[in-house]
Amino acid sequence: MKVLLLGGTTEAAVLARLLAADPRFDATLSLAGRTKSPAASPLPTLVGGFGGAKGLLAYLLENKVDALVDATHPYAAQMTMHAVEAATDCDTALLALRRPAWEQQPGDRWQQVADAESAVEALGTDPKRVFLSMGRLEIHSFARAPQHDYLIRSVDHPGDLPMPYVSVITAKGPFDPAAEAALLKQHRIEVLVSKNSGGSATYGKIQAARDLGVPVIMLARPTLPWADSVTGPEAAMAWLAAHHEALAQRGV
Ligand code: NAP
Repeated sequence: MKVLLLGGTTEAAVLARLLAADPRFDATLSLAGRTKSPAASPLPTLVGGFGGAKGLLAYLLENKVDALVDATHPYAAQMTMHAVEAATDCDTALLALRRPAWEQQPGDRWQQVADAESAVEALGTDPKRVFLSMGRLEIHSFARAPQHDYLIRSVDHPGDLPMPYVSVITAKGPFDPAAEAALLKQHRIEVLVSKNSGGSATYGKIQAARDLGVPVIMLARPTLPWADSVTGPEAAMAWLAAHHEALAQRGV
């Protein structure tokens, strides 16, 4: 059974390994190409996108893909939209692997905001020491608030930044809560800006902020279109196995 896996997440990497080890599946991984050196995958890998929903549809038809698994990041709303659109226009079955969001716990001091622009507003006018741990793509929004002192962490260096007070750390998770607490203390962080990524790999900073009483400005998740969905790689394998079985019964 031919599978196209839209990846870029820890769960997609795990699912790629499970698919590679299962002879029922002939799977290909697709990455946006956001990181310079992505972890090696056992699956053949495409990098750089399809050229919109129409390009993805053309790929699915041309390669006779039986199942499309959208295991992209919860904030990769455009890719998810394209996956739903393309799968609706052909016979390819679609499964979304959607990581549950983090829930606020007692002691958390979260302020939920709609997007990066609102996060900038929420920081206020007084200069603060801010930890921006939210990926490279939205950092430039914070140029509007140059009075703050920013600590930025991303997988690859974000390049030249327009803010005058900025330190950059390049690192890839998982991040341990104790090390995250040490980092917040070392940089005397007064507020953390984060996406609600869910999962355990980047939860350390949220736990550390709770333990230290540091407020968190949490960017809301984008609204995603409905799709048949599971929350983890094992459940995705079970769904794919059931689809494989159904195709075999129909003699496809
Ligand atoms: P996006 O805005 O949903 O997608 C933009 C375009 O990137 C898509 O239209 C598609 O290009 C391409 N693309 C995205 N994921 C792809 C995949 N798995 N395979 C092939 N092409 C893919 O997603 P984004 O720009 O990557 O990121 C949006 C948000 O998600 C950001 O907040 C980012 O920090 C977060 N995020 C993304 C990743 C990741 O690996 N992508 C990881 C962590 C966090 P075409 O239209 O040309 O097909």
